[in-house]
This record gives sequence, C-alpha cells and structure tokens, in this order.
Amino acid sequence: MSIQHHKCLIIGSGPAGYTAAVYASRANLSPVLYTGKEPGGQLMITTDVENYPGYPDGVNGPQMMDDFQKQAARFGTDIRYEMITKVDFSGKPHKVWTESDEEIHADTVIIATGASAKWLGLESEKKFSDNGGVSACAVCDGFFYKGMDVAVVGGGDTAAEEALYLSNLCPTVHMLVRRDEMRASQIMQNRVKNKENIIVHWNSETDEILGDTEVEAMRIVNNKTNEKTEIPIKGFFVAIGHKPNTGIFKEWITLDDVGYIKTAADSTKTNVEGVFACGDAQDSMYRQAVTAAGTGCMSALEAERYLGEVGII
Ligand SMILES: Cc1cc2nc3c(=O)[nH]c(=O)nc-3n(C[C@H](O)[C@H](O)[C@H](O)COP(=O)(O)OP(=O)(O)OC[C@H]3O[C@@H](n4cnc5c(N)ncnc54)[C@H](O)[C@@H]3O)c2cc1C
Repeated sequence: MSIQHHKCLIIGSGPAGYTAAVYASRANLSPVLYTGKEPGGQLMITTDVENYPGYPDGVNGPQMMDDFQKQAARFGTDIRYEMITKVDFSGKPHKVWTESDEEIHADTVIIATGASAKWLGLESEKKFSDNGGVSACAVCDGFFYKGMDVAVVGGGDTAAEEALYLSNLCPTVHMLVRRDEMRASQIMQNRVKNKENIIVHWNSETDEILGDTEVEAMRIVNNKTNEKTEIPIKGFFVAIGHKPNTGIFKEWITLDDVGYIKTAADSTKTNVEGVFACGDAQDSMYRQAVTAAGTGCMSALEAERYLGEVGII
C-alpha cells in the first residue's frame, strides 16, 4: 500500500477538530480529518446546548455536530471514519497509523481528541445521565436546575468550582466529599466554606441516585459510620475529574500530570514542531464547545503559518 502524504491531518471530530477543518480547508490546506470512535465528539450524547452562540433557541447536541460536519465537508475536508492508533513524531514528516494499519505522513498534525468525564460507575448514574438529572458539567447544565436543590460529588478544585457556580443558581448545593478534607486549593476551600448555601457532607459517598424517570433524591452513606441519609435533589453533578484522550501521544508530546497536552502560552503549539493541540485535549480549565472551537481555529491558523514559514505552501 503506498503511503499517503498530506499537508494537514486532523485527529478528532468534536467542535475543535471540525473548526480546525473549516479553517484549514478554506486556507487550501486540503485537510484530512479522522473522526475516531465518536464522530461528533462529546456533544453527541447531550440534548440541549443553550450556550453556543448563533443558536438563539438552543440546539440539540447531535444536530449541532451535524452542522459542524457539513460545514467542514462543504469546504472539501476529507472526513474519514477511523481511529488513529499510533503516531511517530520523531522526525519530519510526522507519521500516523490508522486502525486499519495504514501509514500516513503529514506536514502538520492537529490533535483534537478531547477528554472524557470520569463517572462514579453507578447504574443509576447511567440511567439519569441523558438529561434525567445527572451531569458532569455545571456550566453546561446548571441553568436547567435554577431554583432547585442539587448535589456535587468531588473534593478537588473542579468540584469546588462547580459547587460555587451552582450556588449562584440553586437554593442549596450539597457537596459530597469522600474524606474529611478537600483536595481543592485553600483559596477554593475558603470560597466554598464562605458560601452559606453550600453544605459540605464530609466522609460521604453516593449510595444511590433515586427517582423514577428523573432524579428526585440521593442516598448518601457516611464511610466512617455507615449511616445512610436520603436528601431530596433534582440535579446530581459528578465532578471527580476528566481523562484526556492523549495516550497515543505521550511518548512524543509533553503532557501534564493528568494527561492534558501542554501548549505554548497564547498558542496551540506543542513541544513538537508542526504538531498543534486544541480543545479539551489541552484545556483543563474551560472545557466548553465554544472554547474548543476557538482553539481549533487557532490550530489551523498556526498550521497554515508554519507551513508557510517552512516553505511547504
Ligand atoms: C453530556 C455533555 C454535555 C455537554 N454540554 C455542553 C454544553 O451545553 N455546552 C458546551 O459548551 N459544552 C458542553 N459540553 C462540553 C463539550 O462537549 C466539550 O467541551 C467539547 O465537546 C470539546 O470538544 P473537543 O473537540 O475538544 O473534543 P470532543 O468533543 O471530546 O471530541 C473528541 C473527538 O476526538 C475523537 N478521537 C479521540 N481519540 C481519537 C483517536 N485516537 N483517533 C481519532 N479520533 C479520536 C473522538 O472520536 C471525538 O470525535 C458537554 C459535555 C458533555 C459530556
């Protein structure tokens, strides 16, 4: 099989990958985009997206990603429904392999492989996760629970941030912390403690999320005393961390402790020349569709400038 060579290869088909594809196609880079196992990315599993600009009435997640895909295709992006399973960034051109073991060479690679939320692993969590009251993103879904009592699981900075965000929308936020202290930074802990409507339940874990078709309550268990308590809530937010989908790059690309790709300040450049990273794979801070699209745009513009600088275009 002959080895294909492309100027720009994009890995991932969420908001970051498709936005990079729109910009790269319109810049005449003839990009090839590999969708991976989840064409459309994380938004394919949600119904209402109400915070993406340009949709005044909100939009269904899969519909929005279908629009992204069509826009990238309209400008000629070559969209391929396969995974990238291996990369070699040791020299130029960059090499990648698809799941059907095809070797592809590329002058620039844009990594847009996203991240996945970690879940507790409860059956009830799955049952209610499709807009039934369980979420892993307060900024995305908190608004739907305005005026209702909610819970946040976790004791790190993300959990503290989610609890604080929800405390401005909801009468009471119950925070479940597994230990008798939080992992969150002192400043975040202080902010949580100073919020009167956040109740921290120490040494507490989720025993069950209760309800018929929607969340109505949670049963928590104190892991010191084994005492179980039922608390009425409408929204249950899991904030125990995310796992960036960056395993195949770790030999070549500098990652942080969690696995997020490190990029240069104000840029999507990685430590490897000609390799750029955008979206949730490099963003532990915002993790929103609009920020993923924004950094996807940056990656394509930076790839185009790089190709010009090295004389390829
Ligand atoms: C349930 C839910 C609801 C959400 N609601 C909102 C909301 O209302 N508003 C909002 O702004 N944000 C929301 N978010 C967050 C938003 O979905 C993400 O911030 C956004 O999707 C990140 O985009 P991305 O392109 O970086 O990655 P992702 O959307 O995670 O896409 C990653 C892509 O990479 C592909 N991929 C991974 N590995 C490989 C590989 N090896 N080879 C090829 N492809 C690969 C995957 O198949 C996927 O297509 C929500 C998230 C979830 C889970």
